[in-house]
Amino acid sequence: MDIISRAEWGARAPESRSTVPWSKRTVFMGHYSAASATQTPRQIQDYHMRVRGWSDIGYNFLINSVTGDLYEGRGWTVLGAHCADHNTESIGVCVIGKDQAGRQDVSDAARRAFKWLYDEANDRKGKRLTLLGHRDRGSTECPGDEIYAWLKAGLPIVGQPPATQPKPPAGAKPAPGTPIAFPLPSGWYFGPVTGPDYSVSGKYGRTFRGRTDRAWLQEWASQLARRGWSVGKGRSWLGKAGNDGIYGPEYRALALAFQKDQHLDQDGLIGVNSWNAAYRNPVT
Ligand SMILES: [Zn+2]
Repeated sequence: MDIISRAEWGARAPESRSTVPWSKRTVFMGHYSAASATQTPRQIQDYHMRVRGWSDIGYNFLINSVTGDLYEGRGWTVLGAHCADHNTESIGVCVIGKDQAGRQDVSDAARRAFKWLYDEANDRKGKRLTLLGHRDRGSTECPGDEIYAWLKAGLPIVGQPPATQPKPPAGAKPAPGTPIAFPLPSGWYFGPVTGPDYSVSGKYGRTFRGRTDRAWLQEWASQLARRGWSVGKGRSWLGKAGNDGIYGPEYRALALAFQKDQHLDQDGLIGVNSWNAAYRNPVT
């Protein structure tokens, strides 16, 4: 994912700055602007510098709640101005937009950008940062109920709602076998061992609905084989390790190829949409 740099969004130069070493960063903090999603980072910066009298835009990063565009604010290691008394330990990320009750204001694209930035922060830190909302450390509604609930749930990405059942194109064959329901809890997926708790890799041998994670992941790849994919040791997919049920680069490559084939979001993670597509979508 690309971070839109300060130069690209036309930032004013900061009046002063001080840096914070990664060793002091322990928190990844979510905010929202509580204003229109059409607000630009430059408008927010102008407000922070001219009206609030700060040295620069207050946040370390910003994400548009509709487009998911990700903007550099002060960046990773510059002291921010987003949560009084907690700017040293916290990387502050503002979602540009507001929370309107009863509707999803933060798009899937914006959620993916936020999650990507959080994963990137953890990689750079070499350790998981604590996810907090501004309201955890200040007397404020920020970041609004929608973002706050999502932060507290650990940023699950559930993907797009299932599209209307696609009509089989001429010559397409119905999916082989009997559909099996997605075995993991809502919002979970088969993914890397380095991911959060809801990223199920098969390495820990966890049990879901009476079978191990490994058996379920093998089941999914076997379904792809029934659909005609060349899967297994020495074959085109999972050729090195075979269908061992332990998520790694080979399963990721297979998931990406299948998602591309099925016009799904291409994230390489096997969540409910990639699972269901294997059992329900016609073979084209
Ligand atoms: Zn805030």
